[in-house]
Amino acid sequence: MPELPEVETVRRGLAPVLEGATIERVELRRPDLRFPFSNRFAARLKGRRITALRRRAKYLLAEIDDGAVLLMHLGMSGSFRIEKEGARASRPIAGETLYYGTPKKDAHDHVVFHLKRRPRVVYNDPRRFGFMLLIRPKELDTHPLLLELGLEPTGNELSAEALAPRFAHRAAPLKAVLGDQRVIAGLGNIYVSEALWRAKLSPRRAAGTLVRSDGRPTERLQRLVGAIRAVIADAIEAGGSSLRDYVQASGELGLFQHRFAVYDRERKHCHRCGGTIRRIVQSGRSTFYCPSCQR
Ligand SMILES: [Zn+2]
Repeated sequence: MPELPEVETVRRGLAPVLEGATIERVELRRPDLRFPFSNRFAARLKGRRITALRRRAKYLLAEIDDGAVLLMHLGMSGSFRIEKEGARASRPIAGETLYYGTPKKDAHDHVVFHLKRRPRVVYNDPRRFGFMLLIRPKELDTHPLLLELGLEPTGNELSAEALAPRFAHRAAPLKAVLGDQRVIAGLGNIYVSEALWRAKLSPRRAAGTLVRSDGRPTERLQRLVGAIRAVIADAIEAGGSSLRDYVQASGELGLFQHRFAVYDRERKHCHRCGGTIRRIVQSGRSTFYCPSCQR
């Protein structure tokens, strides 16, 4: 499943093609993805210009010149491909030959954005858990999908001071609280494990222990915030991880997966202390950590 750094990588890959582009037409090859396309979806986008491509948590937000916002989510297996005119006939682009997991099939190309004097942008999604919705800008804060999103892990609002009231008095383990979209938006299972390792904190530790009795953050919480930022920044820089079914918008695979410190490294040695990485299951999801140096 694409996580936040992958979505940001996709955004960065797509932005040079989409920003400022005029949509000649949108080709919908089926009536729905996870949700049906709205009635006038293609008609509303035809001839419109995309003014900006932003991201919030794991959502891509294309701002349209009539004030609408195209909200896109990659679901479990969604990816975008940038396709130059004639490229398919001469030579397949990397995205079609380099893949991880199931081969990309044309049958899974569900949406094609035909752009004026620019390459086509093709959305492929074998499992169809992704979706595209046209919403009004005033819905950005009130839409059910966006309403309860917590702090953006790459944004300025993420700080120990902002997290302290959300952690205070909570007996729930750090893993569960950090994975809660209402606390921090888009920090997935992989990056929660990685951030906790960097911060030397056990995923089982109660979240409330990172807040002092006067409500101020402890040094541990400061360290955790630094670790979250660093883990996400490194992953974005590495081009996103690619565990399965995921291809960067440029057609290249991410390079981050072999650099995980703990994720998917059960019984391997901890790079920091030489201890043995353990896997435990919390709220039905795997957590990886080093019991020797994460306390
Ligand atoms: Zn260790």
